[in-house]
Amino acid sequence: LRPGIIGWALLDICFAVKQYSEYGHVTNSMWLAILPQLLYAVDALWFESAVITTMDITTDGFGWMLGFGDLCWVPSIYSLQARFLSSCPVQHSALFTALVATLAVVSFLTFRLSNSEKNAFRADPNHPSVRHLEYIETEAGSKLLVSGWWGMARHINYTGDWFFGLAQCLATGFETPMTYFFAAYFLVLLLHRNNRDEHKCRQKYKKDWDRYCERVPYQFIPFIY
Ligand code: NDP
Repeated sequence: LRPGIIGWALLDICFAVKQYSEYGHVTNSMWLAILPQLLYAVDALWFESAVITTMDITTDGFGWMLGFGDLCWVPSIYSLQARFLSSCPVQHSALFTALVATLAVVSFLTFRLSNSEKNAFRADPNHPSVRHLEYIETEAGSKLLVSGWWGMARHINYTGDWFFGLAQCLATGFETPMTYFFAAYFLVLLLHRNNRDEHKCRQKYKKDWDRYCERVPYQFIPFIY
């Protein structure tokens, strides 16, 4: 995780420096693209211990996906927006900047608060920040949250994560589809990941998972899907 995430952040900073050295200023589009990405990198390192409970570690194990993905794919593909802006500077209106920044803030909060809520609940269900939340007991022994963030949709954390990525793509404007590659790729990754996780949970929790799905029928977006 560390080399890939830090490499991504360093590449982003290099592209901003390149833009500054060639054009004499850093555009608002560049800030709009890289500040959220730097925040995501700091978040990943700050909450590093949470990676131990992710599917990559608990189910997938270390192989091609993590080796190539984290070391090569993440820094080179996730920094595409900054790379594009370093040689094609785009300046946005204040309104467009505010709209994209709002999307970034709301989606980041959804991603972070939902993940933190589940981590806090799993670490200590009686902690004051989570003890008011409703949950169902399962025969497998684990408790499944059915209120708070996890009562809205079964993978509300993926929703926040995807819209946060989309905001970074929107930061490049509408000059080329290339800078939207990340949003398309990440959608496929999260949908595939969601299917794998549903399959795993269905096998683990059996009829308790059906009860859970009845209580929380939406997968990503409350009242829509
Ligand atoms: P989650 O953090 O969503 O974990 C899913 C697991 O949580 C389930 O298998 C189940 O595990 C448990 N769980 C599910 N529902 C509940 C509930 N209601 N209450 C309590 N526990 C529940 O999945 P990931 O590990 O896939 O993702 C972690 C984060 O990493 C996400 O925010 C994702 O967006 C992000 N991510 C980012 C990537 C990137 O490239 N930027 C790539 C991949 C992920 P159990 O068996 O313990 O019950």
